[in-house]
Amino acid sequence: GSSDAEYDVVVLGGGPGGYSAAFRAADLGLKVALVERYSTLGGVCLNVGCIPTKALLHVAAVMDEASHLADLGVAFGAPVVDLDKLRAHKAKVVGKLTGGLAAMAKMRKVTVVRGYGTLLDPQHLQVELTEGEAQAKTGATQTLAFKRIILAAGSQAVRLPFLPQDDRIVDSTGALGLASKPEKMLIVGGGIIGLEMGTVYSTLGARLDVVEMLPTLMTGADRDLVKVWQKMNAPRFDRIMLNTKTVSAEAKPDGIWVKFEGEGAPTEPQRYDLVLQAVGRTPNGKKIGADKAGVAVTDRGFVPVDIQMRTNVPSVFAIGDLVGQPMLAHKAVHEAHVAAEVIAGELLGDAKLAKSAFNARVIPSVAYTDPEVAWVGVTEDDAKARGLKIEKGLFPWTASGRAIANTRDEGFTKLIFDASPEGGHRVIGGGIVGTHAGDMIGEIALAIEMGADAVDIGKTIHPHPTLGESIGMAAEVAHGSCTDVP
Ligand code: FAD
Repeated sequence: GSSDAEYDVVVLGGGPGGYSAAFRAADLGLKVALVERYSTLGGVCLNVGCIPTKALLHVAAVMDEASHLADLGVAFGAPVVDLDKLRAHKAKVVGKLTGGLAAMAKMRKVTVVRGYGTLLDPQHLQVELTEGEAQAKTGATQTLAFKRIILAAGSQAVRLPFLPQDDRIVDSTGALGLASKPEKMLIVGGGIIGLEMGTVYSTLGARLDVVEMLPTLMTGADRDLVKVWQKMNAPRFDRIMLNTKTVSAEAKPDGIWVKFEGEGAPTEPQRYDLVLQAVGRTPNGKKIGADKAGVAVTDRGFVPVDIQMRTNVPSVFAIGDLVGQPMLAHKAVHEAHVAAEVIAGELLGDAKLAKSAFNARVIPSVAYTDPEVAWVGVTEDDAKARGLKIEKGLFPWTASGRAIANTRDEGFTKLIFDASPEGGHRVIGGGIVGTHAGDMIGEIALAIEMGADAVDIGKTIHPHPTLGESIGMAAEVAHGSCTDVP
C-alpha cells in the first residue's frame, strides 16, 4: 500500500473516545487522521448504544405515561405500533448525530480514513480500506505513519458460547434492530443494557424474564434504589431469576427453549420468542496488532494505561472501553481529552498541556429505565462493605411537589457524606431513583468534585418546584452534621 505523509496523531476508532481525541488534538493544532472501519463515525455509543436506546426508551416512556393518563381523566385508545416507522425514527436520530460528527471532522481538517487498522510497529498503522455500510474490504491498504497514536478501538458484546446461532438470539445491536414484536422475551444479564432494552420490548408488548448470575439486578447501584425500580417494574416480568445461570438453549421452530440452573431456576426449560444476551462487553485489545508495536494487552483484552493514558510504549496512548471499566461514553470522552492534551504538550513543547491527567474523582452511572436509576461516587452499600464512616441525607419524593404533580412520587434522592474525622463532612456519593434521575446526577458529581458539604448544597437555591430541589432537600436533612460558620 501507499504511505502517506506523517501525521502528528493517528486515532484508531471513531467512537466517543476516538472522535473526541481527534477533535481535541486538531483544535490544539496537530495534524490528525481518524481511522474507522464503519461508514459512520460515533462508534458503539451513537450507532448501536447510548443514542438509539434512548430514542426508543423515550418512545416507550411516552407510551407508558399516556396509558396512565386514563386515571387522570384523559383516555387514549390502545397504541398502534408501526415498527418500520419506529426504526426510521431511531435511524434519523442516529443519522443527525453521526452526520454532525462527519461535518465536525471536516471543519477541523481531520482526515477520516475508512478501514480496519492494525499496528505494524510503534510508528505505523496499516489500514485495510473498506467501503459501504458494513465493512466490505476494497483490497487496498494504506500505511499511516504517526508520531503518536491513540488507540480507541472500543469493545464488543460478549457471546455466550453455548447459545446456538439463531436470529431469535440477539445481542444489544440485534435487539435495536427491532425485527419483531416478541410475546415472550428472555434477558440474559440483569445489567443496565439488558434492562433498558427489556423496558422497550415490554412496552411494545413483550412479557419479560430476566436471568442474572449475581444476587441482584443493576449491580453497582444501591439496593434501595434498585428496589424502587423493581417494585415499579414488577408488572413487566414473569420471572426475575437471581443467582441463576443460563446453561443451555435449543432453537426449535416454536421458539428458543432455555434451561437454567440455580436459585431462581424453573425445573422445566422455558420457551422464548427472543433471547437478548447482555452479559457484558469485551475490549478489542487483541485485534489491533498491539503485539507488533510491543503494546501490552491483558488476558481479557484490555490495554493498561496510566492517568495520562500512556501505554507501556511511549508513542502509543489508549482510551475508552479499551482501557477498562466503567465502559461508559463520558469516561471515554474525558480520557480522550487527556490523551490529546498530553500529546499536544509533548509535540508542541507546552509544559502545561503535557501535565494533563485523568483524575476525575467520580464517574456517574445511569440506567435510563423507568424510573431512572442514577448513582455517583461512594454508594451506601459500598460504604457499609468498606466500613466507611458516613452520614446520609435522604429525601423521599413523596414530599416533592413536582414529583406529586407529575404523579411520579415513587423516587428518592440520597446524599452520602464523609463522617470520618478528617473528611470535613464533604459529600462523597449520591444516588437518585425516579424520573429524570440521570439528568440530575451531574449536580451531585459537581458537588463531589468541588468538595462541597451539606451546607454548600443545602444553601444553594434550587428552583421550585423541580425534581432537582430534592438534592438541596437531601442536603438539608443532613445539615445538622455540618457547621454553618464560614
Ligand atoms: P466504541 O464506541 O466501541 O468505538 C470504537 C470504534 O472503533 C468503533 O466504531 C469500531 O468500529 C472502531 N474500531 C475498532 N477496531 C477497529 C480497527 N481495528 N480499525 C478501525 N476501526 C476500529 N454508555 C454511556 O455512557 N451511556 C449510555 O447510555 C450507554 N448506553 C449503551 C447502550 C448499549 C446498548 C451499549 C452496547 C453501550 C452503551 N454505552 C453507554 C456504552 C458506550 O457505548 C461505550 O462506553 C462507548 O461507546 C465507548 O466508546 P469508545 O470510543 O471507547 O469505543
